[in-house]
Amino acid sequence: MHSKKEKLSLFIFIDALGWEVKQRQPEFLKGLIQDSKPLDTILGYSSACDPSIISGLTPSEHKLWSSFYYDPTGSPFKWTRFLRLLPSAIFSRGRIRNQMSKLIKRVCGFTGYFQIYAVPFKYLPLFNYAEQKRIWEPGGLPYGESIFDRMTQEGIPYHVHDSDIPDDLRFERLAADIQNQRIDFAYCSFGRLDALMHAEGTDSPNIKKLMQWYDGKIRALLDAAEENYEEVSWYIFTDHGMHNVTGSYDLIADVEPLDLEWNQDYAAFYDSTMARFWFLDERARAPIIKALSNHPKGRILSEQELKASGVWFEDGQYGDLIFLMNSGTQIVPSFMGIKPTKGMHGFNPADPDSRAALSSNKNISANITKIQHIHQLMLTELGLD
Ligand SMILES: [Zn+2]
Repeated sequence: MHSKKEKLSLFIFIDALGWEVKQRQPEFLKGLIQDSKPLDTILGYSSACDPSIISGLTPSEHKLWSSFYYDPTGSPFKWTRFLRLLPSAIFSRGRIRNQMSKLIKRVCGFTGYFQIYAVPFKYLPLFNYAEQKRIWEPGGLPYGESIFDRMTQEGIPYHVHDSDIPDDLRFERLAADIQNQRIDFAYCSFGRLDALMHAEGTDSPNIKKLMQWYDGKIRALLDAAEENYEEVSWYIFTDHGMHNVTGSYDLIADVEPLDLEWNQDYAAFYDSTMARFWFLDERARAPIIKALSNHPKGRILSEQELKASGVWFEDGQYGDLIFLMNSGTQIVPSFMGIKPTKGMHGFNPADPDSRAALSSNKNISANITKIQHIHQLMLTELGLD
């Protein structure tokens, strides 16, 4: 018998394992889960949700919401201007855009998650990018403190995932840290489920197989934790669910015919479920509002609704006007992709399919109802609250 370390807190993030998805997988960690509940997500994508989970703050507070925002003077992409001269056919290929993303990330010195997706190269120099730093380390947030800042101040040894390696290696590295009793805390994120459901939708038979794989990996991890620690608390959670895509719509085609000059009168960024508009000249406001009002495929979000969702920005950083698509309808083409996917998240947070989930081997306190409350849970586990 080797000696055990006192306590381990495990926070295991399975991207897109929302409440509805989890309910359809009753075998997942059966017999181990003590308590489980849905959590409210935040309007937007992981670029908004993940910083909230690790800080307890809303996007209005930590200032990370969508990835790209209009900022021609501060744009780190000005040097990419020459790329617009190259034939666009080259850049419509996924693999080439992937290589380009890596190159741009390196040249710009970004350490955070970065993809150029399908942002047209002619527009790229007008935009800035929010998540320039890796958020999973101290100093990673533009505003506020994350759990990683806090653990570093307190000298708590922790494990955090490496975003550049696949899920199976992430399990291996976490298991090694547990077996060597090197850590008191782990925050480890896994991405395969999100990728699978984007590609195949929420009804794919492959989801069950993948969840069996996760089940096996997590059970092995928990066994190793029990062998090496007197006390183990674990939480399995996510930041959002997943919708099946039921239709696509070319929203750009509604805006381009308006008699408005791009980058003179207005600028726009088309995410996959949202369109965001900046009014550079007041004369752009009325026609854009008119084109998007009483729209059959989506709606303009009110200031009130944005404030209630924690995604209101006084300075219009992420847009002066936000248009959200009807749930299930994807903007195609958008700046995030030229083809539709089978699954997508980032629709109305109030939908059942949008909800996140939290499961644990402990009872979850009643005041944990939103994804950003997981930060409080982490503090409590560490005895830092
Ligand atoms: Zn996703």
